[in-house]
Amino acid sequence: SKKPVRVAVTGAAGQIGYALLFRIASGEMLGKDQPVILQLLEIPDEKAQNALKGVIMELEDCAFPLLAGIEAHSDPLQAFKDTDYALLVGARPRGPGMERADLLAANAQIFTAQGKALNAVASRNVKVLVVGNPANTNAYIAMKSAPDLPAKNFTAMLRLDHNRAASQLAAKTGTKVGDIKKLTVWGNHSPTMYADYRFATTNGQSIKALINDQVWNAETFLPTVGKRGAAIIAARGLSSAASAANAAIDHMRDWALGSNGEWVTMGVPSNGEYGIPAGIVFGFPVTTENGEYKIVEGLEIDAFSQECINKTLAELQGEQDGVKHLL
Ligand code: NDP
Repeated sequence: SKKPVRVAVTGAAGQIGYALLFRIASGEMLGKDQPVILQLLEIPDEKAQNALKGVIMELEDCAFPLLAGIEAHSDPLQAFKDTDYALLVGARPRGPGMERADLLAANAQIFTAQGKALNAVASRNVKVLVVGNPANTNAYIAMKSAPDLPAKNFTAMLRLDHNRAASQLAAKTGTKVGDIKKLTVWGNHSPTMYADYRFATTNGQSIKALINDQVWNAETFLPTVGKRGAAIIAARGLSSAASAANAAIDHMRDWALGSNGEWVTMGVPSNGEYGIPAGIVFGFPVTTENGEYKIVEGLEIDAFSQECINKTLAELQGEQDGVKHLL
């Protein structure tokens, strides 16, 4: 049988953590033959540590055959020790009256510390996924704080936007989500993201040709996907934690086990592709194989798409400028 791998999760006692840990432990993320050791991080606060204890009791009570160990930590240097995968979920939410600059600064502090800790103690091949918002910028900060690790190992979650877009397109075309291929989402995990179905197919047919309605694209589809998180909070009174956790599982599974030639969306540091300045963590179409992702290159960017990409890029550059002095 396989040797266990180490999976670190931060913010482990939070809402997303609660929807995520049980699925990692059951083998949905890394395969039904891959034992895992969970290395869970929560803030030192007594309430959070107690909540984490409760979650661990439940993990024990699931008697998952693949769960080879569970650790609870309040220090990232311990939580990230030798870790092969790190899911950075915990982040500082925007409090009442909190300015954007304060939010960026609070998160810069968290992700600088976590990047440094990963740099010091994680596996040299660690695969990092940032879920905590602002996810792209937090991933950028962690990456910049970990100069001894490959920059390409730091990624941000755009997969929820991708999955939301797939679901809207399946409904619109009357086909199944599983039949949709070559969809992508460019840019920031925020309402400025650009979900792009120009290349997408369903059952081999062009989705753009099937829908043939640019007004629907610009005025219904993009706002629906972009504001889906807010719509769920309005309906449920709570955030979209389960679908966020599901997207995190999808992202890591495809990165680790491969996408079989299919496109998926990941937020990854640019190497200058599509004119995105190097280092910016940006949503791109990628394919994955043997534990590596590759940005799909050579796609045509039309005027409407360029405008959308410029807008989400400008937002990301604004966030990056806002944290520059903190790095
Ligand atoms: P959640 O588990 O619901 O969310 C955690 C983070 O994920 C937030 O930044 C949230 O962003 C982000 N997120 C990304 N996509 C989504 C989505 N689709 N729906 C909802 N959230 C999304 O938060 P909780 O408050 O329940 O739990 C967070 C835990 O992290 C707490 O237990 C806390 O103790 C811990 N924490 C750890 C910190 C640290 O490591 N230093 C700092 C702060 C908290 P958004 O805020 O935009 O919804």
